[in-house]
Amino acid sequence: MFSTKKRTYKQHFNEKDSFYKYSSPKFKEQQALSENLNTDICIVGGGLTGISAALNLADQGYDVCIVEANKIGSGASGRNGGQLGIGMRKDQLYLENKFGFEKAEFFWNVGLDAVKNVTNLISKYNIDCALKPGILHAGNTKKDYKYFIEEIEHMKSKYSYDNYEYFDENSIKDEVNTDQYYSGLLTKDSFHLNPLKLTYGLAIECLNKNIKIFENSPIDKIEEKSDNVLLFSKKAVIKSKKVIVACNGYLDNLLGSVRNFFMPINNYIIATEPLGEKLARQIIKRDCGVVDSRFMIDYYRFSEDHRLLFGGPETLTSKFVNNPVEFVSKRLFRVFPNLKNYKIEFSWGGTLAISVNRLPVFGTLMNNKLYYAHAYSGHGLAMSVMGGKMIAEKILDKNNHFNKFTEINHIKIPGGDLLRRPNYSAAILYYRFRDYLNSIN
Ligand SMILES: Cc1cc2nc3c(=O)[nH]c(=O)nc-3n(C[C@H](O)[C@H](O)[C@H](O)COP(=O)(O)OP(=O)(O)OC[C@H]3O[C@@H](n4cnc5c(N)ncnc54)[C@H](O)[C@@H]3O)c2cc1C
Repeated sequence: MFSTKKRTYKQHFNEKDSFYKYSSPKFKEQQALSENLNTDICIVGGGLTGISAALNLADQGYDVCIVEANKIGSGASGRNGGQLGIGMRKDQLYLENKFGFEKAEFFWNVGLDAVKNVTNLISKYNIDCALKPGILHAGNTKKDYKYFIEEIEHMKSKYSYDNYEYFDENSIKDEVNTDQYYSGLLTKDSFHLNPLKLTYGLAIECLNKNIKIFENSPIDKIEEKSDNVLLFSKKAVIKSKKVIVACNGYLDNLLGSVRNFFMPINNYIIATEPLGEKLARQIIKRDCGVVDSRFMIDYYRFSEDHRLLFGGPETLTSKFVNNPVEFVSKRLFRVFPNLKNYKIEFSWGGTLAISVNRLPVFGTLMNNKLYYAHAYSGHGLAMSVMGGKMIAEKILDKNNHFNKFTEINHIKIPGGDLLRRPNYSAAILYYRFRDYLNSIN
């Protein structure tokens, strides 16, 4: 399989530092792949999916290497909003209607385990990544309270789950100091954290376990060769018994038509100057992460040094915006107009992969010698670590979680190579309009 000329990972070359790069201790640069190599497992992509798969397999004695086109954590794993949420991207009612209760319950349990898995790894490896509890879903419309109350009742009666806290119109203003919200639902088992610190922390454990990491080494072609798989980079070829492709929104054409089952989209974040702990607590009282209820969501949280990290808008074209300050800050100042007097010190963006039903896409190729997991649809911080673990467990024949995800009948983004992007952009415009209508009703 050959990749196309367009390489998404290159959009991050020569960029300014993100807040995450500024705040994380440096990860020692790893050498590029320069000589041919034989290995048990070769992992393409040095984000959380790849790193997690590597850790789980090396623990079982496999010879593992990670090959990264750019730098460890230079994809979405080191750029995201840091919201470590339970569940899947869609709620349980949606999943029950689509897949039936049994399967929906399976997804719910995986989503809960995914967060526990990350917090366990943070404790096990003592990773300092500013982990803090709580994500608050804030209702932008007067109707949202009904959804929140139904959600609480549904989760209690069907899943015996009730670790939520509800906020009405008065109490939500006490939690988040803005007039934008009418109600809220705090998920106490979710967390937020600095994702690049987490990614580096886990990558350091890979090095401790003698996993070889090659940076600046894009894989251009993957080919099945009898009982092995060959991976071609510019300077060398890797011969591997099994391959894991963990490139998510940066996959491009590496696996041919597999890319048609998701849409790569760009999303952007800005960071204010440090606001001080007092002002930070006046803005978000209990220091949780916040996500609003619109289709085109705003998400934000305070950093370990009390900057407001605010993200949300995505662009309609595939063109990556290098300086997104203007259009992200518009959204920030709508929610918190009083912050107009503070400096925006960092801005950055990244590419994520969205599937039609918002569930991750898992699969195998080359007679079960190649595995892939991607398209966590904006809910991948916990699920990418889980995705890597599930691939490892599939290879180790430990459980059938991976198979259950491969059974999902994903549909292609309509329109083929030519019309996928325009179709997607039209849908985004529609939903932006719907958000606008909701905001004036
Ligand atoms: C701006 C933004 C905000 C987000 N916010 C959240 C959030 O708050 N909560 C949440 O749950 N999720 C969020 N996400 C999604 C989450 O970050 C991703 O789902 C997750 O990080 C995916 O991890 P990954 O390892 O699969 O992919 P990535 O971290 O994207 O890693 C893929 C890697 O593959 C490499 N690669 C690509 N092609 C090749 C090749 N040919 N050869 C070698 N290497 C290659 C890339 O350089 C990249 O490093 C966000 C994403 C973005 C972009």
